[in-house]
Amino acid sequence: MAYSLLVMKFGGTNMQDARAIRHSASLAGRSVREGIRVVVVVSAMAGVTNALLKLADAAQAGDIAAANDEIAAMRTRHFTAAQELGASPDSATVREIREMHETLRQAVYGVYLLRELTHRSRDLIVAFGERLSAPLMALALEQSGLRAHHLTGGEAGILTDAHFGNAKPLPGTYERVKDRLSGVLSAGVTPVVAGFMGETDKGATTTLGRGGTDFSATIIGKALGADEVWAWKDVDGVMSADPRVVQDARNIEVLSYGEVMELAYFGAKVLHPLAVTPLQESGIPLRVKSAADPDFPGTLVQADALDDGRHPVKAVTAIRNVSIINVSGAGALGVPDVVASLFAAIARENITLLMVSQSSSMSNVSLAVQSVDAERTLGALRSAVTAELQVEEQAGVAVLAIVGSGMRGQRGVAAGLFSALAQSEINILMISQGSSELNISVALDGTQVEEATRAVHQAFRLGELPAAVH
Ligand code: ADP
Ligand code: ASP
Ligand code: MG
Repeated sequence: MAYSLLVMKFGGTNMQDARAIRHSASLAGRSVREGIRVVVVVSAMAGVTNALLKLADAAQAGDIAAANDEIAAMRTRHFTAAQELGASPDSATVREIREMHETLRQAVYGVYLLRELTHRSRDLIVAFGERLSAPLMALALEQSGLRAHHLTGGEAGILTDAHFGNAKPLPGTYERVKDRLSGVLSAGVTPVVAGFMGETDKGATTTLGRGGTDFSATIIGKALGADEVWAWKDVDGVMSADPRVVQDARNIEVLSYGEVMELAYFGAKVLHPLAVTPLQESGIPLRVKSAADPDFPGTLVQADALDDGRHPVKAVTAIRNVSIINVSGAGALGVPDVVASLFAAIARENITLLMVSQSSSMSNVSLAVQSVDAERTLGALRSAVTAELQVEEQAGVAVLAIVGSGMRGQRGVAAGLFSALAQSEINILMISQGSSELNISVALDGTQVEEATRAVHQAFRLGELPAAVH
């Protein structure tokens, strides 16, 4: 296909040092030289986001020395990369990095003085990771002979709600991004956008949730009507399981938007769970590509899963650090109002439910939530029900899910999952199947999740090439 406009996203590993940034710039440059307009969207250098979160916590706790040490280490990393990419000490890039680090230091000092870290100030601090990456990528593109211009997420037009830490784009974003980036592109300049971040209509910096640079790229892709969005990664594409857990995990050639969302939702870190939503609305394909092997097709994510009937299950994934919250009390849960009040309490607290199940005797409702949300869930539920109901947490759980649109209407898939787990002597604590039949998920003891993932991967022969299965 002859492309005219692509959005290319580079993740933390692809931005981790000068060498990686130069390689990433060459991948974008290759397309620009073919006459394709490219928007580049970048993540923070690998490890920087975690370091920023940690140092913000240290400042809040009063340990300004630890916070400043982290900032200094990070500063060295950014300066070293700039220097290795050819920036002189008095260049605009070095000046800009110095200024940004100074602002970051002041923001962190403010947190230390106040001993207060709001969601809003955390977003301001954590977005510096991406903001500091963008000038480095622009520099690398310029050093390779291209014209580039870097922008923050807000400058690029990404307008979000004020849900700091997990902000969503507002409808007005798309027109704004188009307005801000079209001119740059038509001047023959490659825009380099800091991913992960946006801003509210009042100009406050927001972030789109962990892994949010994928989401930034697809928002921009939709806004500009790109031919495709390419997410360059350190893996071959979306794989049949996390390659760190399953050695023979295999690249999946095609996935539907829905399948990718399920996978991401159930813990496959490879894409942000909402990343495909802007594309779903516009039908733009997403490719997940390997930066180490750029000619490998990777994974194509599009509307149609192209099911061949032979692979009902495409991937297995897992969420760790889950708690099951059991609400029990003989008979009381049979009253519809009681169950409704449980869900209303969860909704008020904005807690994400991973799984829900209710026993047919109406004496028990179980909810699976991330363990970080367990305290809040317990509090919300206890205040919503009368004392005759018990609300208890079972911690140390994991949720494993199998995903594939071909499971719809296929018999025996659930049986295959349960027997694979039974053969490995893994006990199932909770079961659920989404009504879309795109996934079946089970809760199990967290210590068994890796073994379970490998057993299920093998039972469904997910590591075999399609040709071998035919
Ligand atoms: P990036 O910074 O490029 O967004 P991430 O680290 O966020 O990269 O995501 C890629 C990582 O996701 C891989 O290195 C891999 O360990 C992990 N991962 C988990 N599940 C999967 C999967 N099913 N397919 C591919 N990668 C996966
Ligand atoms: N740097 C952010 C994170 O680590 C966003 C991203 O990499 O997509 O979550
Ligand atoms: Mg990511």
